[in-house]
Amino acid sequence: MQGYVMSRKKICVIGATGSIGSATLAIVRQFPEKFEVVGLGAHSRVEDLQRLVEEFSVPWAACTGISCCSEWKKTSRLLVGESAAQQLIEASDPDLVISAIVGIAGLAPTFYALNAGIDVLLANKESLVCAGELIKRMRDNASLRVGRLIPADSEHSSLDQLLHRQGRDQVRSLVLTASGGPFLHKPLSELKSVTPRIAVAHPTWQMGPKISVDSATMVNKALEVIEAYWLFEVDLDQIDVIIHPQSIVHALVEFHDGAIFAHLSTPDMRGPLSYGLGIEGQRLPNVMRPLRLADVGALTFLQLDNERFPAIALARQCVERGGTAPAIFNCANEEAVELFLQNELRFVDIVPFIEETLQCIEATSYGSVEDLVEVQMKVASLKSEIVRRCNHG
Ligand code: NAD
Ligand code: MG
Repeated sequence: MQGYVMSRKKICVIGATGSIGSATLAIVRQFPEKFEVVGLGAHSRVEDLQRLVEEFSVPWAACTGISCCSEWKKTSRLLVGESAAQQLIEASDPDLVISAIVGIAGLAPTFYALNAGIDVLLANKESLVCAGELIKRMRDNASLRVGRLIPADSEHSSLDQLLHRQGRDQVRSLVLTASGGPFLHKPLSELKSVTPRIAVAHPTWQMGPKISVDSATMVNKALEVIEAYWLFEVDLDQIDVIIHPQSIVHALVEFHDGAIFAHLSTPDMRGPLSYGLGIEGQRLPNVMRPLRLADVGALTFLQLDNERFPAIALARQCVERGGTAPAIFNCANEEAVELFLQNELRFVDIVPFIEETLQCIEATSYGSVEDLVEVQMKVASLKSEIVRRCNHG
């Protein structure tokens, strides 16, 4: 193969300064010959973004949370403002977008990329939860050239890998594992006094603050059930959740004959991210610490306790209701988590806040990303009222 230079995969990372963005760029550092970073986006951490842009010699950058920046060094172009992430994708023309923004803010750029025929490695589960129906409609439309949606969430990447050679018609169930978060065994009466600092300290994963709170309430797993529903197109009752505190088994597939396949690795997002970044199913070597099962000793599994973690049943109801119900669920959770992190809502009121919001706002059918942004604004406009209801409940 002398003289042959393999072209590098052009990637654009939106949400580059966060936990998933950093894990993605750690893989690029390890394999500079395989990836070219053509675009990096962040919200407001301009200095961190500038540092990354210089390190990876990136031609295009975007900051959605600012309207101008006089100190930006002119070695690369900086786009600013609300739709800067979409402009970044358009200008940088990548082979793959890594969608690593947190929350519904990731929806418009993710949708933009897919609609433009660009593959998306999706960490931002909130966008698929909110817009699953819209994205499915787009993917099913044979006249459109839609980008591929590649899961980055560890459970969904595991399922993708497990289903690689098997038809969906052979599947009895898909099982997502959940660590149970920091409060798996805490007496329910003590959850009232949980502080943000305790809630974000996840026992097995290092993650951003929002998903850490989501893991403690199990809303994360609720969002992941909806995510799996849209990604793998199985019936809702074929998607199960099981508690597995060690976070070594990330997902399981049960086939019709009774055989169960499991995916195991150390809990490290570089695993699913490198698989998703990888070129045509080629696994990148040595991205995770090797898993020594003898050191782990025992793997345990527990039934989900629906009284302790009611969010999953609630999410299932939202999928069944359809239309904007999953978006209302998601947006209510985003508001509730933000309020909790600011000490304005108790931890135990996060899921009741979602339930109250679903009572207040009627789910309707929708046809565009803008309709879902309206749902977000409606939820935001009701938040003080909902907090009052939670306090009196
Ligand atoms: P994080 O808080 O560490 O990072 C969030 C990133 O999004 C930052 O770069 C921030 O600048 C950007 N951002 C925040 N608000 C924005 C806005 N309004 N507009 C544009 N950009 C904005 O979060 P994270 O833990 O990296 O999670 C990112 C996404 O990946 C979430 O959807 C999360 O559920 C998902 N995810 C994370 C993990 C993990 O291990 N961290 C695992 C699976 C899935
Ligand atoms: Mg996950």
